[in-house]
Amino acid sequence: MTSSDRVSEPFVELLDSRPEALREAAEDFGRLVCAPPLGVLRPRSAAEVGDALAYAGPRGIPVAARAGGHSMYGQGQAGGGIVLDLGDLSAVGPVTGERVEVQAGALWRDVLAATLPYGLAPPVLTDYLGAGVGGVLTVGGLGGASHRHGLVADSVLELEVVTGAGEHLVCSPEQHGALFHAVLAGLGQVAVIVRATLRLSPAPTLVRRYCLYYPDLDGYLADQHLLATDRRFAYLEGQARPAEDTAGDWTYMVEAVAPHQGAIPPDDRTLLAGLSFAASESTDLGYFEFANRVATDEEVLRATGEWLHPHPWLNLLLPEDTAASVVTDVLTDPAFRDLRGTGLVLLYPLLTRTLRAPLFRRPPGEVVHLLALLRTAAPGTADPMVAANRTAYENARAQGAVAYPANALPMSPGDWRLHYGSRWSTLAEAKSRHDPHGILGRGHGMGW
Ligand SMILES: Cc1cc2nc3c(=O)[nH]c(=O)nc-3n(C[C@H](O)[C@H](O)[C@H](O)COP(=O)(O)OP(=O)(O)OC[C@H]3O[C@@H](n4cnc5c(N)ncnc54)[C@H](O)[C@@H]3O)c2cc1C
Repeated sequence: MTSSDRVSEPFVELLDSRPEALREAAEDFGRLVCAPPLGVLRPRSAAEVGDALAYAGPRGIPVAARAGGHSMYGQGQAGGGIVLDLGDLSAVGPVTGERVEVQAGALWRDVLAATLPYGLAPPVLTDYLGAGVGGVLTVGGLGGASHRHGLVADSVLELEVVTGAGEHLVCSPEQHGALFHAVLAGLGQVAVIVRATLRLSPAPTLVRRYCLYYPDLDGYLADQHLLATDRRFAYLEGQARPAEDTAGDWTYMVEAVAPHQGAIPPDDRTLLAGLSFAASESTDLGYFEFANRVATDEEVLRATGEWLHPHPWLNLLLPEDTAASVVTDVLTDPAFRDLRGTGLVLLYPLLTRTLRAPLFRRPPGEVVHLLALLRTAAPGTADPMVAANRTAYENARAQGAVAYPANALPMSPGDWRLHYGSRWSTLAEAKSRHDPHGILGRGHGMGW
């Protein structure tokens, strides 16, 4: 009798194959891919995750973990396989010293709510706190503090995982280090994260948010370079915005945030010295209100129904020397014209020496820029937008760009090899060792 036979009967009884469960597991934030699984398992322990993987592996059944469900293109789906819905593995705490234990199905909003009473927060948060811990750690996680502290995944001290081979392990840089580094920003190819220990840092209670406006891209990028490298702000992002008076022009806005000590406000003059913006404004906000700001947008978009529309999003990391050219190409491309009306374009710098997870891919150079083209499609109209993403990706790649793989972007196995470059063999080795049946993370289309 093999280990997979032993677990088969009780495990199969736990699978939810009701049509509504399968439908939900075949949907994600992208609303572009719909691959119903055979069943959904809601594991309550690492042992149950292990049972599922031990059952699925020898049978070659695909398995995908689902935390917050915000994949863009079916990355968290397992057509004809098993979706592990981690909703029951979402405990947060305890907070001890400057660290917190979190289960992988928790949402970042709950993580922050649990750490703030201690005056602490993860050093980097993504813009949206409704995403899941497991999903963000496997993609990497970029946000306004990344120019100082790197990826969300870079604050992980330890992981508890179950590998595709069904092995239950605790890993860290010191213990099973190769596995630890293959899981973080590793797109769920080798293991399911069950729990993470995160490093925390002191959180302010108040912040001052500055919006600095620029009429031209070159001036904007020059100031973004300065701000990323001198690191005067705690948080640094920015946007391209359609100019109001003209048909096709764009303007640019740095969004920068400094902690506010209440009685001692930030020194505006020092923070804004040497910059070339044309206009500026600032607002004081509570820290949680600022960190959780996308929740308000979500509420509005849920009310209009657009939250549930297709989201053909494209995230690219641009080298500094071609950033202006790639951005101009995309913003003047008729295939992306809808960005002027309903989209959002994020454009902000990252300091590469802070981005540590080895499987996180980015262009070379001291500074790179995240370009996020965030579009919403009316139902049934997204296919040409996904095709435009592909064309934009190829053009950008020819100019040295790399995908930030939280995208609605068809990628072939050959694209993935190019994406990983010299790290492909590291990932392939970890894959064959820890997921020998190739059942995990098939939604990315790496073609193992
Ligand atoms: C409104 C919005 C704003 C966003 N803003 C940002 C941003 O500012 N910065 C940024 O970096 N990203 C941002 N994202 C992208 C988001 O971080 C990714 O899409 C992330 O992968 C979503 O995680 P999830 O858990 O919600 O999704 P899921 O679909 O549940 O998971 C995403 C992927 O991770 C895998 N996975 C999930 N849990 C586990 C686990 N425990 N073990 C192994 N693999 C697992 C899934 O199988 C899937 O492949 C944003 C997304 C949205 C919808």
